[in-house]
Amino acid sequence: MKYLDEFRDPSLARTLVENIRRRSTRPIRIMEFCGTHTVSVFKHGIRQLLPSTIEMLSGPGCPVCVTANADLDWAIAVAREPDVILTTFGDMLRVPGSHSSLEKAKADGADVRVVYSTLDALQVARDNPNRLVVFLGIGFETTAPTIAVSVLQAEADDITNYYVLSLHKLTPPATKAILDSGESRLDGIIGPGHVTTIIGSQAWEFLPRDYGISCVIAGFEPLDVLQGIHTLADRIEASRPEVCNAYSRSVRPEGNEVALDYMYRVFEISAADWRGIGKVPASGLKFRERYRRFDARERFEVDPGPTLEPPGCLCGDVIRGVKTPPECGLYRKVCTPHNPVGPCMVSSEGTCAAYYLYAGEQNQLTRKK
Ligand code: SF4
Repeated sequence: MKYLDEFRDPSLARTLVENIRRRSTRPIRIMEFCGTHTVSVFKHGIRQLLPSTIEMLSGPGCPVCVTANADLDWAIAVAREPDVILTTFGDMLRVPGSHSSLEKAKADGADVRVVYSTLDALQVARDNPNRLVVFLGIGFETTAPTIAVSVLQAEADDITNYYVLSLHKLTPPATKAILDSGESRLDGIIGPGHVTTIIGSQAWEFLPRDYGISCVIAGFEPLDVLQGIHTLADRIEASRPEVCNAYSRSVRPEGNEVALDYMYRVFEISAADWRGIGKVPASGLKFRERYRRFDARERFEVDPGPTLEPPGCLCGDVIRGVKTPPECGLYRKVCTPHNPVGPCMVSSEGTCAAYYLYAGEQNQLTRKK
């Protein structure tokens, strides 16, 4: 298949659904790690097409949602520092921190600017040599190499007023942490297609080896997702756990070695704080010694105040797949995309926003107990 429409062909979708129905005979639980998959599943009504034997859970795969409040508070505090321009991707703007948000800080006079790439942030630094330009570095393995490249470019161009707050996260260790917690019994995982394009499908081999769980790497169109679910159902029924690459037009076993090389040239692996999961060893990226002068944590000393979570918000449980948005008392009543209480409702890839936008009143209550 070559064109997008072919990945949305209704007759092929019907065939795949029929194959899934025929193959799936016992109850199984599948988690899609990635927020883009979550949106695709909801947008195309995939949950409603599946047999009652298959329960789909959404995982922590939205970088905005998993950014810990303490880290967001720190970024907001830096944005309020004199001479600072804080650059960020747009999704972070409205996420409520403990006491404020970047949007409110901007309304209060902080210079917060939305950029579409790290190279835009670098240009802001070039254009404002007398200001301190900080880029809020959130994202998984897909984004981190581009941020590493911006640091290398800053070094090459001798830009001395560019800093990155590295809040990057690595996805396999978080998946391990969710499985190790034992809170969610999972039979299969739909692995993140974009992330795996960078890290390679080999990075998920620990799932069948250490946990006896199958993992399918899938693309994001409806046929991609249905094919992924069929593959998982097949492996689970056959009791043959393995990693399957159903996104071979993008993913290779070894990943993108050039991107990984850039990423690990600038960053090294460290612990990271995940909303809802807590501190996960070896799940983040910190600056290597050589590039520490670009590290916003080294340059600024700020007091963001005590960390608070929004009362009643279950984002942490939603991120771990332990609760669904309708199980949150604030969902739809108080918390909506226009008035988000937690990050899962702010982000376009957040589970709560996906439920709100696509699930419909009837389908929000379809989670099997
Ligand atoms: Fe948090 Fe709102 Fe989702 Fe509830 S509905 S978990 S308050 S984002």
